Amino acid sequence: MKEFSLSIIAPAYNEEENINNFYNTIKPILDKCTKNWEIIFIDDGSRDSTLELITNLNKSDERIKIISFSRNFGKEIALTAGIDYADSDVVIPIDTDLQDPPELIEEMIKYWREGYDVVYAKRKVREGESFMKLFSASIFYKVMGKMAHINIPENVGDFRLLDRRVVLELRKLKEKTRFMKGIFSWVGFKSKEILFERKKRDAGETKFNFWGLWNFAIDGITSFSMFPLRIFLYSGFGVMFFSFLYALIIIFKTLYFGADLAGYPSIMVTILFFGGVNMFAIGVIGEYLGRVYEEVKNRPLYIIDEICGLEKKSR
Ligand code: UDP
Ligand code: MG
Repeated sequence: MKEFSLSIIAPAYNEEENINNFYNTIKPILDKCTKNWEIIFIDDGSRDSTLELITNLNKSDERIKIISFSRNFGKEIALTAGIDYADSDVVIPIDTDLQDPPELIEEMIKYWREGYDVVYAKRKVREGESFMKLFSASIFYKVMGKMAHINIPENVGDFRLLDRRVVLELRKLKEKTRFMKGIFSWVGFKSKEILFERKKRDAGETKFNFWGLWNFAIDGITSFSMFPLRIFLYSGFGVMFFSFLYALIIIFKTLYFGADLAGYPSIMVTILFFGGVNMFAIGVIGEYLGRVYEEVKNRPLYIIDEICGLEKKSR
């Protein structure tokens, strides 16, 4: 069988405790799969010795490629850079903290050979993650599933096999808000799900906190769904309709029974309530407007400081 080429996309942000372990774990597995593999490390503006460690790996093993950002741009952008630069038959993004088990790669490739373009890894249980994170993640997937018109599989991260065809399509999606889970699902293609148990982080700390995840969820929803805007279209229409009926009632009441001056509490409540609704609606519109603004500015998604083993592309 002809040897295929395989690119691993490994985003790393302050992962000095994990890099060597990651390389030593994944290397024998890749060797088993194909001779023709590479790992593209994306150093996402790490402030520890991550870049030094991957530079050392690159010196001893030329299959280690490096893209080093000028600052921290976030994991979604790091993955985007990896997808821009990975020119292999098969591309697999994977976390460098060994939470995504590299052993799965062999199984993914098995399914790829059977003709699947995407093989994604779905986690069965999540060891060592707080109740709050599990709970909020589950709500997020439910809300996202209802609102977005694409089906984002639950409990699936960015760890997945992508055929070259899919990678070429992914490159065409130029939006500035990079909600990768949504982007991956949006392009579609014949997909296969495999199950795995997600381990605790090998070393170091997670970079995502509750606030970060909350904003991440808002990115996800507003990038893939207009539902929040539509809520106001319909509720606005409903309120208009009922106020019209109510106005008719008041007019007839005044004509036949005259006006009395009661009603201060109901007026206050109505004003405050609709003041709140208006402000919330403006906030929702602002979220979308902000995204339009980001697109219009059209800044580059990332800035590369150093690149090693790869041809620099203009983006
Ligand atoms: N990561 C990154 N840039 C960031 C944050 C994280 O490249 O700004 C990388 C990180 O080094 C790791 C992966 O993304 O390889 C997943 O991050 P983390 O383990 O913190 O997330 P979690 O597993 O808790 O979802
Ligand atoms: Mg992790």
